[in-house]
Amino acid sequence: MGEVLRALEDAVGSDYVSVDDFVLYTYSRGIEGALEEVMPEYVVRPGSTDEVSRVVKVANKYKVPIVPRGGGCCLMGGSKPIEKGGIVIDMTRMNRLLDINFEAMTVSVECGITWAKLNTVLFEKGYYTGTLGPGSGMSATVGGGLSHHSVGGGGATKYGTCSEHCVALEVVLPQGDVVQTGSNASVYIKEPFCRLGLGPDLLSIFLGDNGIFGIKTKATLEIFPRPEYHECKTFVVENPGDINVAKIWLEWRKMGDLGIYDSQYLPPLTVVAYSGLLTEFPFIPAWKGIDKGILWYTIEAYTEDELEEKVRLADGAVKRHGGEELGEKIEDGNIARWHYEKHGFWQNWHALWNIAGPGCVPCSTEHHVPIHRMPDMFRAFEKWEEENRSLLEKAGAFSGVSTTILCGHTTVEVDSGLVVWDRPELRSLNKQLWISQMHMVIKNGGMPYMTGELYSQALVDAAAFPEPYFELLRTLKRTLDPNRILSPGKYRL
Ligand SMILES: Cc1cc2nc3c(=O)[nH]c(=O)nc-3n(C[C@H](O)[C@H](O)[C@H](O)COP(=O)(O)OP(=O)(O)OC[C@H]3O[C@@H](n4cnc5c(N)ncnc54)[C@H](O)[C@@H]3O)c2cc1C
Repeated sequence: MGEVLRALEDAVGSDYVSVDDFVLYTYSRGIEGALEEVMPEYVVRPGSTDEVSRVVKVANKYKVPIVPRGGGCCLMGGSKPIEKGGIVIDMTRMNRLLDINFEAMTVSVECGITWAKLNTVLFEKGYYTGTLGPGSGMSATVGGGLSHHSVGGGGATKYGTCSEHCVALEVVLPQGDVVQTGSNASVYIKEPFCRLGLGPDLLSIFLGDNGIFGIKTKATLEIFPRPEYHECKTFVVENPGDINVAKIWLEWRKMGDLGIYDSQYLPPLTVVAYSGLLTEFPFIPAWKGIDKGILWYTIEAYTEDELEEKVRLADGAVKRHGGEELGEKIEDGNIARWHYEKHGFWQNWHALWNIAGPGCVPCSTEHHVPIHRMPDMFRAFEKWEEENRSLLEKAGAFSGVSTTILCGHTTVEVDSGLVVWDRPELRSLNKQLWISQMHMVIKNGGMPYMTGELYSQALVDAAAFPEPYFELLRTLKRTLDPNRILSPGKYRL
């Protein structure tokens, strides 16, 4: 241990390596209430790409595993050790905004920067990254978001996941080499602008990889001007809300580009939670007594005429399926306005966390489905809950879908899972329920995107991947990481 510690201190400086118990403990778990705590042996905080590379070389030399960590907000245990100790490499010191290129319409950053820090600077200049990363964007990093295909912090309906807008990525490979991908793969390209070119898209294997193929150190993302005009509306929808909303969303998509920046559906249980618990939000009183779901949207446009026409078309579909508009002010219950104008996109999920009171935490099973299959997934959850009722009662847990988000052109992101009590005596039961629900989602055709520890293993255990696909994944991993250094255990690799 002494030799490894000295080598790590040589790599990043002794101020940035810790073996103190209280530090190691904070890096030993995620925020869920089900997975085992696994203490790392070292926490390392590099300040440059070169230092990351040196840490990775030390890890290879001494055969010590490494788990990369950004903000540590992974809901699936992906940013803590899985099998045994090793090194947690905390990327948050690498948090500089390197360049905004208004000619090429890109921004380049170090991957430990948070989405909120990055977009706060861009907002001031009239721009944004389109998708604002995850809802945890005040602490989650660009590196973590790109490792998860994150979505949900704003802009999902118009811009899809954050991965879609990455045009260049610098990665430290599992043996310590530094590779430039996307536009930067060619030494003759002086400003990154596009990911697709130069042959196969090797950048993409690092997107959504949950930190198994490399450590992201720098990224270039597209930027977009924030349109001058927008409209925010919130509706109560007729039951069964999921069926009506799926129809509305499909109708919108078939109309072409309506400029919808965000649209979310909150099922009745979530409406109750908002109106009963999160009293600090001014729209709560307006929702009291509503026993139906809520649908909201924000439409962006570049002219008033364009906005008017798009709102007319979008509202037509909502009204055809029984939606009733709430007032236009936030205090009338217009959550859409709060979400867009008051940075609700980064407060929403933090606020929902204590949904049942202090000590409760989510065990998330969020995933993607095609728009028209959203109601099937709601029914699958109801069936699963019925089958697991006695275990749910034993755990004092509740389950369901909290929100669905129209995400990209074809997809609905379903924020589903369990709310459990974070108590040692309940952990194994919580884990049993959580894994069972993950298998149910996977077998019903749900597509997890933030796979971390548990969902990645569930995909393998549920035999979701036919052998040729899994063999391709295994071959890539073995080739890049012959010493099995990076994030061992994810996908059971
Ligand atoms: C309150 C709250 C709200 C959330 N809302 C959303 C949401 O709306 N949408 C959503 O998608 N997720 C959401 N999440 C989950 C999570 O926060 C996001 O997926 C986020 O993008 C993770 O970023 P992070 O920096 O915290 O990454 P971490 O949790 O630190 O890491 C995530 C994964 O990426 C790997 N990793 C991290 N940094 C790097 C790097 N530089 N190079 C290589 N691998 C790396 C880790 O090993 C891990 O597997 C939420 C979580 C919380 C707690």
